[in-house]
Amino acid sequence: MGSIDYGGRRMILASCRDITERKVLEYELAHLATHDSLTGLPNRALFLDRLEHTLASTQRRDGLVAILFLDLDNFKVVNDSLRHEVGDQLLVAVSRRLKGCLRFGTLVARMGGDEFTVLLKGISGVGDAEEVAERIIRELEAPFVIEGHLLSITASIGIALSDAAGRESGDLLRAADIALYRAKDEHKDRYEIFDPSKDAHVLERLELENDLRKAVERHELKVYYQPVFSLESDYIAGMEALLRWEHPERGSMSPTEFIPLAEETGLIVPVGRWVLEEACRQACEWQEQCPSDPPPIVGVNLSLRQFQHLGLADDVARILRETGLDPGNLALEITESVAMHDVDSTVATLEELKSLGVWLVIDDFGMGHNSVSYLTNQFKMDHLKIDGSFISEFVEDPDNSAIIPGLIDFAHAVGLRVIAEGVETADQLRRLKEMGCEFVQGTIIAEPLTPVAASELLARKALSSGGGP
Ligand code: C2E
Ligand code: MG
Ligand code: MG
Repeated sequence: MGSIDYGGRRMILASCRDITERKVLEYELAHLATHDSLTGLPNRALFLDRLEHTLASTQRRDGLVAILFLDLDNFKVVNDSLRHEVGDQLLVAVSRRLKGCLRFGTLVARMGGDEFTVLLKGISGVGDAEEVAERIIRELEAPFVIEGHLLSITASIGIALSDAAGRESGDLLRAADIALYRAKDEHKDRYEIFDPSKDAHVLERLELENDLRKAVERHELKVYYQPVFSLESDYIAGMEALLRWEHPERGSMSPTEFIPLAEETGLIVPVGRWVLEEACRQACEWQEQCPSDPPPIVGVNLSLRQFQHLGLADDVARILRETGLDPGNLALEITESVAMHDVDSTVATLEELKSLGVWLVIDDFGMGHNSVSYLTNQFKMDHLKIDGSFISEFVEDPDNSAIIPGLIDFAHAVGLRVIAEGVETADQLRRLKEMGCEFVQGTIIAEPLTPVAASELLARKALSSGGGP
C-alpha cells in the first residue's frame, strides 16, 4: 500500500479495499452457485432461471423459444475405460466446442453428467433449431485429442419449441427430454423434434409414473387375496396377494398394466415392500380372527427388479420380525424369467431367503424358459405353479392335453408340489385332481377377493371344518 503517513487516508484506502474484496467474493460465490465448476458453463439452476425469464418476457411477435437437450452418446465408455480426469477434460473440450459454434450470447448450460442444454430465443420456426442442432453434431465430429488419446464422441439431441411443447419451462424441458429419448432410441448421433402426436404415449407414461409415485401415500394401492385350495384335503391352504391400483381417473388397474412401469422406474422396490408388509400383517390378523390349523400361507409375488435389489432377504427378515409372522406362513413367488436372469446371484438370494424358513414357489411355470436343470439342482423351490394359459387350453385342445400331466409328473419327479392356476371349470378341477395335482387356484374356487371378503371366506371355512383341514 506504500507509505502513507496520513492515518485517516489510510483508513479510507483500507475500507475501499475491503469493499472491493467483498464484492469480488460475493461475485465469486454467486458464480459458484450458478455455474458448473468443471466447465465454467451456467448450471441447471441458472439455465432454468433464464428459461423461465425468457418465456415470461417473450411476446408472440418476438418469435419462438426453443431448447436443445444434448446428451453425449458414448461418454460412459470413455469415462469407464480411461482415467476419470480424461473424461473431465473431454467434457471441458466439448463445452468449448459448443460455445464456439453458437452465436455469441446464446445460453449453453451443463445440466449434469454429460448433458448440456442450449436456449434459443426469437427464432422463426423449427428450421432454425434444426440448423443449430446440425451444426453441433458436425462440430463434434472431429475427434478430440486428450492426454494422447484420440477420442471420438457423438451426441444425441432433443429439440422442443414453445409452440408445440407449451410455455411452461418444466414442460419445455420435459418435451426436449422426451425427444432426446427418441433420438437415443433411433440409433443416436441425431436430433429429434418433440411432436405431441408422436410423443403422446411417452407423456401418458410420464403421467402414470407421477401418479404411481403418489399412489402409496394416497392409499390408492390395495392388496386382494386369492385362495389356493388343497385338492388333497379340501381346505384353503394359501392366499395369494395380488396388487390392485384404484386410480382416481382410470378406475381399478390390473398389475399387468402398471407393474412393468413400476419395474422400469424402480418404484417396484418400495411398492413391493409395502405389499409384503401388508400381506404379512393380514396373515397375522387372520390367525387371530379366524384361526385354522394349519393357517393359510400367504403368497407374495416378487419381480425381477425386487429380486436384484440388494437387501431383499434383509427386508423380508425385518418384515417377518416386525409383523411377528412365522416364516413358514409366507411363500414367495418368482417367475422363471426372474430365476434365469442372473443365475449365480439368483441362487445366492434364494438360499438367503430359504434359510429364513419361507416357502419358495416358481410361478407361471411352462412359459418357455429352459430352467429345468437349475430348478431341480440349484433353486431349492418347494412348489411349482403351472401357468393358467395351459389350464385354459388343455380341455379343448387334445394336442395340449398331454402337457399338463407331463408338467405334473416332472414336478413330482423332482420333489415339487404342484399348484394349477387359472382353474375355471369343474371339469378342469376334476381332471387336475385325477392327475395328482395338489393345489388349485382360480375362479372355480374364488376370484381375487378384498381383504374383508377373504376374511369372511376364511371364517366360514374355519367354522365348517372345525378349524382343521
Ligand atoms: P400371477 O402371480 O400369475 O397371478 C395370477 C393371475 O391370474 C392374477 O392376475 C389373477 O387375478 C389371475 N386369475 C386368477 N384366477 C383366474 C382364472 O380363473 N382365470 C384367469 N384367466 N385368470 C385368473 P392379476 O391379479 O391381474 O395379476 C397379474 C400378475 O401381476 C400376477 O400374475 C403377478 O405376476 C403380478 N403381480 C400381482 N401382484 C403383484 C405384486 O404385488 N408384486 C409383483 N411383483 N407382481 C405382482
Ligand atoms: Mg403369482
Ligand atoms: Mg402365475
